[in-house]
Amino acid sequence: MRWTVLGSGAGKITAERSPASHLLETDRKMYLFDAGDGVTKKLYSIEKKPSSLEAIFISHLHPDHWGGFPLLIQTMHLEKRSSPLSVFIPEEGITTFKRMLEMGYLFKETLGFETRFFPILKNPLLSDEAITVSAYPTKHLKKYFPLGHLHPANLMESFCFRIEANGKTAVYSADLAAVEDITEAAGTGGELLIVEGMHTKREELGFFLKFHPFSHIVITHIPPNNKSWKEEDNIIISYDGFYIEI
Ligand SMILES: [Zn+2]
Repeated sequence: MRWTVLGSGAGKITAERSPASHLLETDRKMYLFDAGDGVTKKLYSIEKKPSSLEAIFISHLHPDHWGGFPLLIQTMHLEKRSSPLSVFIPEEGITTFKRMLEMGYLFKETLGFETRFFPILKNPLLSDEAITVSAYPTKHLKKYFPLGHLHPANLMESFCFRIEANGKTAVYSADLAAVEDITEAAGTGGELLIVEGMHTKREELGFFLKFHPFSHIVITHIPPNNKSWKEEDNIIISYDGFYIEI
């Protein structure tokens, strides 16, 4: 599989780094993990057609992980997509996402393809002839728990993903509270770990990797003025457009 970091930035983006979006390609299909602002342009910049996406996975509802979604759908409409699109998102967002498309006059009657929203509830989320994707909850949004009673529609859902294809395993952390959030997804390790550099500490990652070894570690979600991360033996600091094949 081939993993491309389309957007390597964190919540506060910079001129060099766009917010989170990642493209996974297998021999036959392509999938998007998170859909931060600018994702459509990023896909075109590497000569990928948005309509070729098989499915989209949204890790959580901070805007830097989905801000590019409406225009991505509009672009697929303008490309005259006809095949259904599967969108896996936290359950708390489905009604609003449907309304958001309707608000933008992307009506299901005229869109030209079906947008199928699935809540992230049970594993595997997706298992087809190309890949198996599973999701595991993280504690990234637990800081909002004290405000929960004021915002009952917000369920503080956030997820990381484990992807298996052709006997290879990749784990995409999305946003974390701390690196131990990905313990279950990481299992006994694998080939590729894409881990966010905003809430992950280098020392804790090193300790984690002793028990969950990965061949390649790619740091993403990198804040402005990064001082925490530098290239090491198997640790790669990603940038917009970086890709790796496993
Ligand atoms: Zn977040």
